[in-house]
Amino acid sequence: MKKIYLYGNWKMNMTVAETKKFFEGFSSQYQPYKNDAGLEVGVFAPFTSLWALADCAKNLGIVFGAENVYSEDKGAFTGEVSIPMLQEIGIKYVILGHSERRHIFNEPDEMIAKKVKAVLAAGMTPILCYGETLEEREGGNTFKVMERQLKSAIDGLSADDVKKIIYAYEPVWAIGTGKSATSEQAQEVCAWSRNLIGIKDVVILYGGSVKGSNAKELLSMNDIDGALVGGASLKPDAFIEIYKAYKA
Ligand code: PEP
Repeated sequence: MKKIYLYGNWKMNMTVAETKKFFEGFSSQYQPYKNDAGLEVGVFAPFTSLWALADCAKNLGIVFGAENVYSEDKGAFTGEVSIPMLQEIGIKYVILGHSERRHIFNEPDEMIAKKVKAVLAAGMTPILCYGETLEEREGGNTFKVMERQLKSAIDGLSADDVKKIIYAYEPVWAIGTGKSATSEQAQEVCAWSRNLIGIKDVVILYGGSVKGSNAKELLSMNDIDGALVGGASLKPDAFIEIYKAYKA
């Protein structure tokens, strides 16, 4: 069996108290898999819970990260958080270009590309999300849109840096809707992405309504290295169930 990345994106959920409670429950669920070299778990939390997350995650030896960051180190950018601020509390991973950032907060490709470069330059790992809306898919523009999103983010980077990025294909119509892409749809895009990126062994996750009941099918596909999970990452048992189901 291949190595599986199981990354949870908590979005704007989980206070400090809820973060601590999550890990009280998660520790025992995770215990049977803790030394399984075939599993890498990661949790991405809102800024205010990162300190608590770092504390809990370090004890368990799992990856932990932020859901966004700004590309400048300091200055007049009210409401933003910088890379040095994240580094100060031990953060090494950052989700960038999530569809909610792209579509609710109107983050353009150029801004995401700047963030990707800044995160890499700081020696951190970006989780780069990309994916089409339903309208774009139905209009036959899926690949055109994704090519734009991916190319703008990796253009000008060295092959080494391109390889350091973790890619997450997340069709917007599948996020938080309960309607996952089929395993064939997800595989098709992940294989196409690998080809476009041009490096065979980059890590590509699928995200969009992943849960225990569809995990095995999705995660068994050749070009899907793991899952970026929203809703099902908020409860310890639902989150670890995804890996259990894959192993079963
Ligand atoms: C996400 O937010 O990245 C996501 C995939 O959400 P969900 O699993 O809830 O669809």
